[in-house]
Amino acid sequence: MGRLQKILIPFLGLVLAFWFYSARDTFKPEMLRGKRVIVTGASTGIGEQIAYHLARMGSHILITARTEAKLQNVVRRCRELGAASARFVSGTMEDTAFAQHVVREAQTSLGGLDMLILNHVGASYFGFFDGDVEHVRKLLEINFLSYVAMTTSALPMLKESEGSIVVVSSMAGKVGFPFTVPYSATKFALDGFFSSLRQEFTIQSINVSITLCILGFIDTERAVRAAAEVLRERPAPRDECALEILKGAALRRRELYYRYGSTRLPLLLRDCAAELLDYLVRSRYRLPAPPGDPRAP
Ligand code: NAP
Repeated sequence: MGRLQKILIPFLGLVLAFWFYSARDTFKPEMLRGKRVIVTGASTGIGEQIAYHLARMGSHILITARTEAKLQNVVRRCRELGAASARFVSGTMEDTAFAQHVVREAQTSLGGLDMLILNHVGASYFGFFDGDVEHVRKLLEINFLSYVAMTTSALPMLKESEGSIVVVSSMAGKVGFPFTVPYSATKFALDGFFSSLRQEFTIQSINVSITLCILGFIDTERAVRAAAEVLRERPAPRDECALEILKGAALRRRELYYRYGSTRLPLLLRDCAAELLDYLVRSRYRLPAPPGDPRAP
């Protein structure tokens, strides 16, 4: 009996904790109805799918990217899907002034902002670090500094609405990844900036949530073109990924992991078995045989 109690009580505790945690709050699409949302990098990929989900939920959407023709199509589709309103601004996030202009556009056309979804990503290469410092600088401007600039400009509106900031990052922003050194660096920078900012919001009782999204391999055209040949894992669907991002954002989660099994679980090793985690990351790739190896071409 004593032994049974020793097992049963902790087990029941775990079941109750799980139930409490999972039943804490549930997502309802109405949470985003009528919300005023900016989505960056929404001409294609995950950002495009986020825009479509928001449209179905009846949000006011302002999207941005460089390619005007694609943005026009996404806006048209958003209207068909039921968006409360949909518009776009085109331009490049290499330019901080453009990032600020997008936020001003939200102020003018939407009269405020409830959610800022920072998702765009500049083009980089897939391969060993080539020593090009200018490329790292440019990528930091697109993938990091423009995120900072937009957040800074949007903050007065987000404070007023007690809104949310959503930062789309990657496993490559939590653990070192080979072949994407500049990209990884920009994603680590996002974690440092936004996790520190979240601390300051708490200290200052600023009710603006920050959700950092840690994504694994997703089936967008760019990612599949770059990595499908060399990665051993199958990419997850981008429309499901986009919906999970919105759920995490609406529930004001601190961090969101998608897919959980291939992101959160391996990261549990980071502090207790970092070298094992590094090994697991390397084993995701079909690596070329080292020079001198008989298998080398
Ligand atoms: P994607 O399909 O390549 O889309 C990138 C978006 O960013 C496009 O709308 C692109 O539009 C825009 N963009 C690119 N350069 C820009 C610039 N200079 N200025 C303004 N906009 C620019 O990317 P994705 O795969 O959907 O990724 C979305 C987010 O998820 C990124 O933050 C990425 O790091 C993250 N993520 C993706 C994966 C994955 O496997 N797909 C994994 C982990 C994390 P234009 O070309 O028209 O400007």
